[in-house]
Amino acid sequence: MAWFTEFRIDGETEPCMICFYLTLNYRLPDKSLLRIEQEAAWCEGCRSFGVAEVIPSIEELYSRIQELQTPTQKLFFIYRTQEAMGSAIDELHTRLRWRGSRKSPARCLACGSTAITPVRFAEDRTCVVNGKRLRYVTRHHGQRHRHLRRS
Ligand SMILES: [Zn+2]
Repeated sequence: MAWFTEFRIDGETEPCMICFYLTLNYRLPDKSLLRIEQEAAWCEGCRSFGVAEVIPSIEELYSRIQELQTPTQKLFFIYRTQEAMGSAIDELHTRLRWRGSRKSPARCLACGSTAITPVRFAEDRTCVVNGKRLRYVTRHHGQRHRHLRRS
């Protein structure tokens, strides 16, 4: 299992499919594992779109914890149980400890380059990266379909 995000690049016929890695972790000093947050990005090193790590700010992590401590209906719907929210909060505390010692900027997960430009779609589902307009198509789970494979 994996998950994908799919977008179109103006002027190109094939959609761009980015496959995220579900089982990619940081190994912390105490040997525990922490899931690597990921996003689609343009990488100068690869000269292509791929997957980069996301390094949230400490403020961002605190505000996520706060949200989970006073959950909205929507968060209840996503997490379903108090227990699931509790373990999400635990993970955020672990991420905070990791974030405190992380100094280097986010890297491309394929080549390690820090020359990356994240793909972050605006309200209108488009964004401009590397001089090209991108249009969000969809995000989905599962195996890569043959007809969608990038040539
Ligand atoms: Zn790269």
